[in-house]
Amino acid sequence: MGDRSTIVISGWQSMSYLSDVGNICWFLEPEFTKQVRRLHQSVGNAVTEDRHIVVGTGSTQLFQAALYALSPPDAFEPISVVSAIPYYSSYPSITDYLKSGLYKWAGDAYTLKGDEPYIELVTSPNNPDGSIRQAVVNRDGGTVIHDLAYYWPQYTPITCLADHDLMLFTISKCTGHAGIRIGWALVKDKEVARKMTKFIELNTIGVSKDSQLRAAKILQVVSHSCEQLGYPEDSESFFKYASRLMADRWDRLRDAVSQSGLFSLPEFMPESCNYAGEMTTPHPAFAWLKCEGGIEDCENFLRGYNILTRTGKHFGAQGNYVRVSMLDREETFDMFIERLSNIRL
Ligand code: PMP
Repeated sequence: MGDRSTIVISGWQSMSYLSDVGNICWFLEPEFTKQVRRLHQSVGNAVTEDRHIVVGTGSTQLFQAALYALSPPDAFEPISVVSAIPYYSSYPSITDYLKSGLYKWAGDAYTLKGDEPYIELVTSPNNPDGSIRQAVVNRDGGTVIHDLAYYWPQYTPITCLADHDLMLFTISKCTGHAGIRIGWALVKDKEVARKMTKFIELNTIGVSKDSQLRAAKILQVVSHSCEQLGYPEDSESFFKYASRLMADRWDRLRDAVSQSGLFSLPEFMPESCNYAGEMTTPHPAFAWLKCEGGIEDCENFLRGYNILTRTGKHFGAQGNYVRVSMLDREETFDMFIERLSNIRL
């Protein structure tokens, strides 16, 4: 996209803490709000009508804001936070690192016992295994946080307009701009949005305006490319381009895996994508690689071939699984494929 997403921020800009005093989320930049709504509208992946937008320093801060907002303030015991195995490995540590009196990590959602209140995290598509997920506990007294970081067309077919009560998104996975540290929550309930805003007020007194303005510009360029306004006729939309790269990487990974005969990967079925207007196949941001043939510590085994991965144990699973990033730089990915292809027992 060249210089299309360049912005200039003058020295006198963004000096106040406040951005939009009439809004529940008073540190939310109006231009960022506009571009978030526009992008969801262009992609068709989530409802934004009648939703409050809360901006965060990455969706990591919003996850913590959501736990704060959904936990009963004066309960006798901290509320249980669960997610189905394999879950995103940061959830347990983020939930427990401050030993909060409000909430505590309670592990795999499938093993949650009793009838106490709970908060369930649903990541879809899932990190680490790319599966499409729904809540599994489904009983009274529970609330659900939907982490939709990967619900973008380069990773998965957009099969429906998500309209859950609390949805988290992040520019880290939408375009790859993880260093900008911007995420957003789409929140149905006004009080939940208010409490999440309060958390961010107490935690960081708002979210960098410079980052919001930069994120707004990037999202604007992405929406513009989706709507194909004013670009040369042969230009691809951002998501088509990214989908092509992901498909290519997955093809190469599957070839390497079949050559070695030592590993297996999850299989994904094509589905009709409302955004692409055709059948598309999932190409997740991570590969959930299983070591076959009795190798119990897959992370260690691969380290022996200079391939760094993350053991399944961090995700509540077994050590014969590892998570591999599919989003690294081209040179790193090329090297990974070459090394994996050359493994022979
Ligand atoms: N949720 C999921 C499922 C993720 O995989 C990640 C990043 N690895 C995050 C949230 C964190 O995103 P952010 O950079 O917006 O804090």
